[in-house]
Amino acid sequence: MMRSLHWFRNDLRLTDNPALIAASENDVLPVYILDSEDLKDMGQASKLWLHHSLNQLNESLEGKLHFIQGDSINEIRKLIDSEQIDAIYWNRVFEPKKRSKDNDLIKSLEIDYHIFNGSLLWEPESILKDDGTPYKVFTPFYRKGCIKAGKTPREPLSKAKLNFISAQDQTSLDELNLLPVHPWKKKIESKWEMGEDTAMKRLDDFLENGIQNYKEGRNYPAKSFVSRLSPHLHFGELSPNQIWFKTRAMGDDKNIDHFCSELGWREFSHYLIHHFSFMLKENLNSNFDAFPWENNADFIQSWKLGETGYPIVDAGMKELWETGYMHNRVRMIVGSFLVKNLLTHWSYGRDWFNECLVDADLANNTASWQWVAGTGADAAPYFRIFNPVKQGQDFDKDGEYTKKYLPQLSKMPDKYLFNPWEAPKELLADAGVKLGENYPHPIVELKSSRENALASFDQIKKKK
Ligand SMILES: Cc1cc2nc3c(=O)[nH]c(=O)nc-3n(C[C@H](O)[C@H](O)[C@H](O)COP(=O)(O)OP(=O)(O)OC[C@H]3O[C@@H](n4cnc5c(N)ncnc54)[C@H](O)[C@@H]3O)c2cc1C
Repeated sequence: MMRSLHWFRNDLRLTDNPALIAASENDVLPVYILDSEDLKDMGQASKLWLHHSLNQLNESLEGKLHFIQGDSINEIRKLIDSEQIDAIYWNRVFEPKKRSKDNDLIKSLEIDYHIFNGSLLWEPESILKDDGTPYKVFTPFYRKGCIKAGKTPREPLSKAKLNFISAQDQTSLDELNLLPVHPWKKKIESKWEMGEDTAMKRLDDFLENGIQNYKEGRNYPAKSFVSRLSPHLHFGELSPNQIWFKTRAMGDDKNIDHFCSELGWREFSHYLIHHFSFMLKENLNSNFDAFPWENNADFIQSWKLGETGYPIVDAGMKELWETGYMHNRVRMIVGSFLVKNLLTHWSYGRDWFNECLVDADLANNTASWQWVAGTGADAAPYFRIFNPVKQGQDFDKDGEYTKKYLPQLSKMPDKYLFNPWEAPKELLADAGVKLGENYPHPIVELKSSRENALASFDQIKKKK
């Protein structure tokens, strides 16, 4: 029997895993390599998720998963020699740095290699405009390039059945040292269950209880109409194909269509960083290179801590810290506030999200921050500045979400919940709110910070 190596990456599952299924025609050595370069970019919440996800995967693999830390190319080459491997299999990670490292690996290999797509519905290279250039606008990308072009995604595959090769050296997950030492980790662990089985249960639960009101309900952070599948998807505990086909099998209505289009946004983000990899570091729209960002360190710190004095913003930042997640509507609100009211370059927000989100994803995070900032593809125009008071009143009317994360405001009446600085003194006293003591004064004034942002935007418009 030939000996194969399956290199697990962001495909931590046995079902619908194209590379693993192909590898399973031979005896398989399943390997996870914590690449030292990747580790540098990985936030604490991601490390924590990865630890538990690997633990689950290892259980499904009867404890046969081989763990290594180091440079993936060197480690793979060493294993090929020591374990007499005949062929190597992996699912591609659609990130520019990883793809270029894959190319270096390929050049150094003297055995067969087989590469698959296990994480995107549509390969970025396969979707182009009629003139052969990549799309920069979501709707034509998705509706024309993906759907109308009849490019049906690959149907999900069954579960891989494996005959294992046991590596000569015994290794353990703990040696990867992924678990943060900070007691904060307990909070996150208590909120989530990682692994392939839970991911599928979460999908089933969402399809039974959430999707019926997804289109409208996804705007309300206190409601459970979103899937919360993002970390499972990021680590590949389930594939977008499994979600797509199960969802499509339910029929065709506005909620199903909208949910599928959000998977489309995930595709679009990966597509963008593939075709425009410079956007990982720079504004996609270079007009913004001349923007007079202030990047005030005190403001950034208040934002991170959820101490801006704007309740919906602060509740969002607390949700992020307490749970490793933030509802999409609130991600947009805190993003607009950081970039526009606080005149901070989007990369500061992206980096903090990367540190704290369990679903931190280079493509989704970068593309979404550039979208919020107005610097990205098909972005929210810079001059559209969210008003955090109105956003709170519209999308968390009775304050359920805000009060959950800011219990000191639990007795504030709805009328002043999102603008406590405007409340009469007696009302604040009755609600037990002491501005500047148990809840901050606003760090910037809404009207003037908005005007400031628009004036800064005018400066770059004039330079165009
Ligand atoms: C500033 C900002 C930063 C973000 N950073 C990330 C990130 O690091 N990782 C991440 O996965 N998402 C990110 N998003 C996108 C979105 O907020 C999350 O994917 C979503 O909130 C995850 O919750 P869910 O699984 O319940 O989503 P659902 O509404 O149930 O959507 C299903 C899936 O579709 C995908 N999706 C949904 N919305 C988007 C979107 N706008 N862009 C790309 N994919 C989307 C996700 O994979 C999600 O799991 C960010 C959004 C903003 C505004």
